[in-house]
Amino acid sequence: MPLASREEGRVLILAPMGKDAVLIRRELESAAIDCHVCRDRAELSAEASNGVGALLLSEEALVPAWNDLAAWLDGQETWSDLPILLLTHAGSSSLVVADALARLGNLSLLERPVRVAALLSTVRSALRARERQYAIREHLREREGANLRKDQFLATLAHELRNPLAPIASCIALLRARSSDPLIEPICEILERQSRQMIRLVDDLMDVSRITRGKIALRLETIDLADVVRTAIETSGPLIEAAEHQLEVTLPSRPVCVTGDVVRLSQVVSNLLANAAKYTDAGGRIAVTLRSEGSDAVIEVADNGIGIPASALATVFDLFAQVNAYDERARGGLGIGLTLARTMVQMHEGSITARSAGPGQGSTFEVRLPLLPQAGMAQPAPAAESRASIATRRVLVVDDNRDAADALGFLLGTHGAEVRVAYDGTTALEAIRDFVPEVAVLDLGMPGITGFELARHLREVTPARVVLIALTGWGQQHDRLLSAEAGFDHHLVKPVEWAELQRLIATAVGPKGRGGDDAPAGDGAASTSGARDTSRATNPG
Ligand code: ADP
Repeated sequence: MPLASREEGRVLILAPMGKDAVLIRRELESAAIDCHVCRDRAELSAEASNGVGALLLSEEALVPAWNDLAAWLDGQETWSDLPILLLTHAGSSSLVVADALARLGNLSLLERPVRVAALLSTVRSALRARERQYAIREHLREREGANLRKDQFLATLAHELRNPLAPIASCIALLRARSSDPLIEPICEILERQSRQMIRLVDDLMDVSRITRGKIALRLETIDLADVVRTAIETSGPLIEAAEHQLEVTLPSRPVCVTGDVVRLSQVVSNLLANAAKYTDAGGRIAVTLRSEGSDAVIEVADNGIGIPASALATVFDLFAQVNAYDERARGGLGIGLTLARTMVQMHEGSITARSAGPGQGSTFEVRLPLLPQAGMAQPAPAAESRASIATRRVLVVDDNRDAADALGFLLGTHGAEVRVAYDGTTALEAIRDFVPEVAVLDLGMPGITGFELARHLREVTPARVVLIALTGWGQQHDRLLSAEAGFDHHLVKPVEWAELQRLIATAVGPKGRGGDDAPAGDGAASTSGARDTSRATNPG
């Protein structure tokens, strides 16, 4: 019996007039039914909060009106529907009884004089019903626990899967830079494509675990959805091209503005485009359209692919749902993309729907978002092209994942940087006695001295301004705040794009000032002029 305590199996009796309570207790006890007689409502409330299997009340116990009881019953947890037995007068049709019937939920009437057999059988069936409620409670708790463990597992899995990807990405870039063997390039392309796919899956896993734990925050601004569509096409372009699909893009000449997170909405549309590419046989047609319709902005992604059976249209958005999980096309997916898409769209107060005339008839996904009234859009400044080089930069790399540290070290060295690699904070601090880095690339979660502590030390002990880059598996807003607080200039999430890291290092301003003839990349890594930032050198404490 899934009782949490003995109290949960007992009958609480409140029958303030006459000898009812005493008589009932005697009968229940002689039938081995646990019970407790309460003197008044206050005692009953106190006892009930310790656990109760059923309430046995006399009609008099409900006079004057007992609003607290009804409120307490209304506030029960979802699994609970406490059985109440009410002793009434013979032939009673009193207002009290009528009111109790209307307000007290799981109520049975026992008409006086009550025969012992009727009393015992009613009490027993009330307790049996209560036991089933406890069983449901147990089941719900188990499920909650399992869900929590699943969410934690997904978060850990995604985080751990990221780690090996960082050295792999570095090694690919390294191979490419060091070898003139013509066979290496196509091999690098394969490696790159496959690890990109891994990164995409890991990112999806990461997102889904954040979503289920309510940990995704949007960065809302006024955006033109045409930019969202363009970004999405850039992201999923390679998939569409690889399958030799024709892509038709229809964008209106005027901006279609919404309040939204451009990164998340682009992710939604690129998921839809990737699905269209995946679930359409090679050489198919995909059309993406953006338009305003009344007070909505509408993005439609249509394909002439394998289509979706009517029975599956409602469930394709469910987590881990795949129409035919054994179809080879489902491979390379986890059934997460559409769940993410729907959640993100709903977070934008929009909706997403799927249509299909059936198998082989193609599919259309439609995203609707609340349109902002036409407004002048500020044009974002185009990102400056970086031609900067990392040659001669002095870089300290610290990561307790030795492969990641070594691979990045080799890669930087190959591009001409002067590199020191350390696998922990203590060694790093020793290294900087005779090696003053201009840039330090630090992992955050390390045993012993963490990346955060190391950053603070470096800020204190290096004579001039060192540019600190956090390179970590932790990419949430909260992690970024922590790293900024510790003094990091940049926060990159593993596996980082080599070009991005290269740009940050190349444009770093270190003790020697901006090195060589490198052009600034517009990131403002430390300062926009070539002058060094000496504030820390003159006032290190
Ligand atoms: P997956 O990673 O499996 O693609 P999604 O959540 O993106 O996960 O999609 C869920 C399922 O919906 C897919 O497995 C597929 O069966 C179906 N589906 C999604 N998009 C399309 C489409 N454009 N055409 C046909 N089926 C689709």
